[in-house]
Amino acid sequence: MTNQKSSSLMAENRQPKAKVQTAIDAVLKAIQLCEQVQAEMVPTDAVQKTDRSPVTVADFGSQALICKAIGAAFPDDAIIAEESAQALQENAPLLERVTDYVSHFSEGTTATTETVCEWINRGSGEVGPSFWTLDPIDGTKGFLRRDQYAIALAYIVDGVVQLGVLGCPNLPSRLDVPEPERGCLFVAIRGQGTRLYTKTGELLERVYVSETTHRFAESFESTHGDSDAHGKIANALGITEPPVQMDSQAKYGIVSRGEASLYIRLPNPAYPDYRECIWDHAAGLIVVEEAGGTVTDANGAPLNFLTGKRMHENRGIVATNGKLHPHVLKALSNR
Ligand code: AMP
Ligand code: MG
Repeated sequence: MTNQKSSSLMAENRQPKAKVQTAIDAVLKAIQLCEQVQAEMVPTDAVQKTDRSPVTVADFGSQALICKAIGAAFPDDAIIAEESAQALQENAPLLERVTDYVSHFSEGTTATTETVCEWINRGSGEVGPSFWTLDPIDGTKGFLRRDQYAIALAYIVDGVVQLGVLGCPNLPSRLDVPEPERGCLFVAIRGQGTRLYTKTGELLERVYVSETTHRFAESFESTHGDSDAHGKIANALGITEPPVQMDSQAKYGIVSRGEASLYIRLPNPAYPDYRECIWDHAAGLIVVEEAGGTVTDANGAPLNFLTGKRMHENRGIVATNGKLHPHVLKALSNR
């Protein structure tokens, strides 16, 4: 380890508990905001971004609350988040809606349209020795369908994810037990495991991957992967159960608690230039790794979170229970 690396890790070790608590509290608060927006949603609460993907009042509100909380506790920390306030500044009614929700969930602080934009734009940080990365709503399409979505926050030091907080407001705490109340939260700390909480912050259990489950997960959105190829790989591995098709990093969550042995995301042949975003994978990666699993790209390379917002050096994603990993990579190389 270089001196520079060990000194930034030492600085890191001085305040890990505060980082963890700040991250958990912020994500729990953002879950509340997202759920309230979802319950009250009107068509004008969702707009299209320039890349034609949807963004909603809840994406902006979640980012504002989380960046505000991190900024208040750790003013020098960089945050790389998905949204920017630019689109909001061009849409006054939408900005008002976001400000109303953020005010409602900002006890003790006044939120104005200006402060809300300021908080959102705290998310325009850059990759450095340490930084946060945030997807305020991962799986916005799932959110709009009232299906799975996640609030994904990770803290990265020297390229290694140290903390991941993954809020999954619509994911039951166990897939096979239908509950009246959905929602849970995964918290993974490097070297300390992955724990599952309720969406109100009560600890349920420490979770582990399973070596006896034979099921794979892939995106619900067929354009976000190559489902034909996923099926062939699963076949080659002897997985016969139909895939769990799910939006967002909730897929990493179900691998971490043994409900799937593989999450596979091969590049869609229609989008050969697509590169994965760091906020779509950093929290999920540590949730799986700390539960005993393995995460690489489709070539077996570690995910490189230091190439900017997008992982320019990686292609596709393979997350497994660990045991299955070499077999998946072998099946991929035999294609
Ligand atoms: P998921 O719900 O797992 O499908 O992931 C949602 C994420 O997919 C979004 O946040 C986008 O960043 C990302 N995405 C959009 N287009 C593509 C694509 N062509 N290939 C892979 N991921 C994509
Ligand atoms: Mg996303």
